[in-house]
Amino acid sequence: MKALILKEYMRLCCEDAPMPEFGPADVLVAVKACGICGSDVHGMDGSTGRRRPPIIMGHEAAGVIAEAGSAVNGWKRGDRVTFDSTIFCGVCEFCRRGQVNLCSQRRVLGVSCEEYRQHGAFAEYVAVPNHILYRLPDAQSFEHAALVEPFAIASHALHRSPVALNDTAVVVGCGMIGLAIIQVARLAGFGRIIAVDVAADKLALAARLGATDIINSKAAPLDEILRLTRGTGADRVFEAVGIAATVDLAIRCARKGGAVTLVGNVAPKIEFPLQTVVTRELELQGSCASAGEYAACLEMMARGDIEPVPLLSAVAPLTEGAAWFDRLYRKEPGLLKVILKP
Ligand SMILES: [Zn+2]
Ligand SMILES: [Zn+2]
Repeated sequence: MKALILKEYMRLCCEDAPMPEFGPADVLVAVKACGICGSDVHGMDGSTGRRRPPIIMGHEAAGVIAEAGSAVNGWKRGDRVTFDSTIFCGVCEFCRRGQVNLCSQRRVLGVSCEEYRQHGAFAEYVAVPNHILYRLPDAQSFEHAALVEPFAIASHALHRSPVALNDTAVVVGCGMIGLAIIQVARLAGFGRIIAVDVAADKLALAARLGATDIINSKAAPLDEILRLTRGTGADRVFEAVGIAATVDLAIRCARKGGAVTLVGNVAPKIEFPLQTVVTRELELQGSCASAGEYAACLEMMARGDIEPVPLLSAVAPLTEGAAWFDRLYRKEPGLLKVILKP
């Protein structure tokens, strides 16, 4: 089969690869669309250590079942599917608590790190266990279905602490995840959604997707958030960048007793306003991947409640994958999600 392989850091080649092996509980999916994730772009240069070559990356995908293992029930050849980016075991202590994103045996498709190598979906075929599959609604295109993962991550972040009707949210960072959070936050009943970013085009998109207020972070964003909230600060803050300056802003713009949900994690370590968190009694929480939010997101997408289209910048053949990775790596302005089709 044809696959886009990271041969060494910064070198992607589209070439022949062996067909994936699949076990009795797995299905072989003929990939029809696979999105390039920010984590793939960050992994390509070796900086995260989570895409050790050689690896076929890609975990945001959709396709058609080409073959089902002998022990698979309920799925057959020809079924249109998408799947969770995380392979969880289903039996460990965390899986049994429903926290499948924290599974002790967790593997992410298209990731190779110290513990494992799991080839992903930038290929004609990928093998996945049947328990992570989701059926696509008939009208759902593969390209849009490949965009469900960021919405699942956004929904999980939203679920990390309760929302009261008419609460104010601040979303720091309007990349893919930030824009997905804005869309699900609008559905969750926030009265005001304040979006913060450095890029004017992303802020314009944030406004179109449900942000009630947009603030350019170059222009005293904390003062502006406090002004909009009459000096109180926001009930819920979502941080979707993951560097010191944005985490600092996220913490300082929360109201006393408010909650800050940290989703971005570009920097492994940052300086942190400890006294603000303690004296204002903030609730601070991490949010990692998703745990069961896929099905709801597929339904919301099919109904048109969440919109993948504004986040989709380009659909290109897999053979052009290396060039698109390069454009994303160089942070070409205005580029959000790029989908590759084998
Ligand atoms: Zn991703
Ligand atoms: Zn588990």
